[in-house]
Amino acid sequence: MEAGHDVRRCSRCILPSNYPNIGFDDKGVCRVCREHDLRYGSIDWAERERRLSRILDRYRGRGRGKYDCMVPFSGGKDSSFTLWTIKNRYGMSPLAFNFDNGFQDPSALGFVKRAARRIGVDLYTYSPDLTLLTRVYRRALEATGEFCSACVVLMPTAIFRAADIHGIRLIIAGFSDALEAPPPETSYIDRVCFRNIMKDHFTMKELRWDYFFPSIKRMFGVKQINLPDYLKWDLPTIYETLNRELDFGKSTADIRYDCLATPHSSYLFRLRTGFGKYEYLYANMVRSGVIGREEALKIVEEREPKEPPEGFDRFLAGLGLDRRALEGIEKRSVFNFRTRPGAVRRMAIAIRERLP
Ligand SMILES: [Zn+2]
Repeated sequence: MEAGHDVRRCSRCILPSNYPNIGFDDKGVCRVCREHDLRYGSIDWAERERRLSRILDRYRGRGRGKYDCMVPFSGGKDSSFTLWTIKNRYGMSPLAFNFDNGFQDPSALGFVKRAARRIGVDLYTYSPDLTLLTRVYRRALEATGEFCSACVVLMPTAIFRAADIHGIRLIIAGFSDALEAPPPETSYIDRVCFRNIMKDHFTMKELRWDYFFPSIKRMFGVKQINLPDYLKWDLPTIYETLNRELDFGKSTADIRYDCLATPHSSYLFRLRTGFGKYEYLYANMVRSGVIGREEALKIVEEREPKEPPEGFDRFLAGLGLDRRALEGIEKRSVFNFRTRPGAVRRMAIAIRERLP
């Protein structure tokens, strides 16, 4: 145990002992670290990159419209580097797609426009009606104690819609499983679960376009890959490239999230689970060698909201709620709305996972 930190933590990453099934071994290393090593320990990156080249060759110059592929572009380091790399290193003609969930940091939005111009790509922005979106966030929060699941369903749908609209068959995202994926023990959503949460509060007509992209098109019409699955995601190189090429103006030390609702969702997450979003996100970074353990502990100590963050009541009011909405939050969960997928759906998912 370190001074100032009264919880037991993994000796390698920083996950605390109240993380679900933490399973420390005799060296104090947690289960998540061991799973990480099994999954990412022996990746042949040269082979991965050859696979990437083969995929890109299949789509280059083959779009039905103007573009070979679409890159979801938030203005964060991962999507910026993905867009730059796909255009400049692989000679693809991408459409940059920016999704505005109403909580986008205005400075990120400014960067998105400047960066798209400098990289030399078309930028397409979708800002769904915030009245409907606010109602969806509110319902999600009331039913499940969190609202991020709304975006977790909305964003991929918006991305697939945009690709479909532009006749694009390949989506290349900068999402990194190792760095960003939330714990499966606390965070889960699929469209059936989402429908169960929303069904008595919305008509399907209201939700269909933004939340339910037809799975048949998703399976056979549009392919999605994540660039960090194919290229070694070396953050110092990424920041160096972005600062040189796009005046990104940030470094590994000031990692920030582009969604302004993150402090609030993080606080709610802690109320429900007893540990913090920043704890698992920074644990991911330590485990992947992006940041040192001590530095991560310091940042988490500073950022992890143990009290309601600044502007929390205003945030709730924006959703038409107040603190009464937090009563009994620890009993709420998306898992209460989960239904086991039927055989056909399980098979469809299995097929989708195996598609080239
Ligand atoms: Zn660990």
